Amino acid sequence: MMKAIVVHGGAGRWSGEKLKKATAVLREAALVGFERLERGDVIGAVEEAVKVLEDSPYFNAGKGSVLSIDGTLEMDACIVADIPRKIGAVIGVRRVRNPISLARVVAEKTSHHIMYGEGAERLAGIFGLPEGDLITEEAVRKLKRTREKLLRGALEGVELLKKTAELIRKHPEVFVGTVGAVATDGRSVVAGTSTGGTSVKLPGRVGDTPIPGAGTWAENGCGASATGVGEGIIEVLMTKTLCDMVNRGEDLHVAVERVVGMTHYPAGVIALTREGRMAFYHNTDAMPVAFYSEEKKEVDVYGVQGKDPRA
Ligand code: ASP
Repeated sequence: MMKAIVVHGGAGRWSGEKLKKATAVLREAALVGFERLERGDVIGAVEEAVKVLEDSPYFNAGKGSVLSIDGTLEMDACIVADIPRKIGAVIGVRRVRNPISLARVVAEKTSHHIMYGEGAERLAGIFGLPEGDLITEEAVRKLKRTREKLLRGALEGVELLKKTAELIRKHPEVFVGTVGAVATDGRSVVAGTSTGGTSVKLPGRVGDTPIPGAGTWAENGCGASATGVGEGIIEVLMTKTLCDMVNRGEDLHVAVERVVGMTHYPAGVIALTREGRMAFYHNTDAMPVAFYSEEKKEVDVYGVQGKDPRA
């Protein structure tokens, strides 16, 4: 039975030194996750891989998360397993260092699927999950720049929600860096995603990441994690639509391209099947992806120049 893990660092515009550093962390995340898979722990593989990415300041998840326009930090995360069925998500958490671990707690230790805010944070305390110093100087600088642009009207103004489309077309770099992982041990498939959200968001906004079936889904031998403009991903329930297509017999590579093609917003998705087949697609400049399988036993990195794994 094929063990494999694929991780992504977010769809958007990546370049230079930051991309190099981010890619090194992605490789590490794939290896750390695979180690868990070897120990027979597929949900742990996704959790540990995503934790490596959350702990790195180079991604928009955990430490390094972007801030809402009022300067608050609101992180979302989700983990979904097909067999045995597990679904856990957290919305708008501010203190917990690893939101993906809290999503796992929701999935495994509560009767619920989705928890938000203070209640979720309290649960983190009960289960002893560490808090973190998550707001980086870079995030504060970025917010300051965004605010200045907003005030100048350079980001298409005050009616942010109506103007989101134009905003993103002109500034795709504001939506970069969510993280995700999908792993399989040949029996189960588990998908996980974690994000600080989008950087021009109103406090209280919830994206696709913690919505099961939108940013994160696993079903019947197929799992997926999406990234990009959450509103667009929710509109097409991207990861659920993808798994449905694959379960109806669609080719995985065709399916990833089709679901990303359903949205006119910047987006990307990674997918993995129980058989260890992996595919990804993004309509942004870049989406760094690292893949490790039992078969190949080395980390392959893709998605930086839109390189396809079939090439
Ligand atoms: N999908 C995330 C959100 O909308 C953002 C991202 O992937 O960068 O919250």
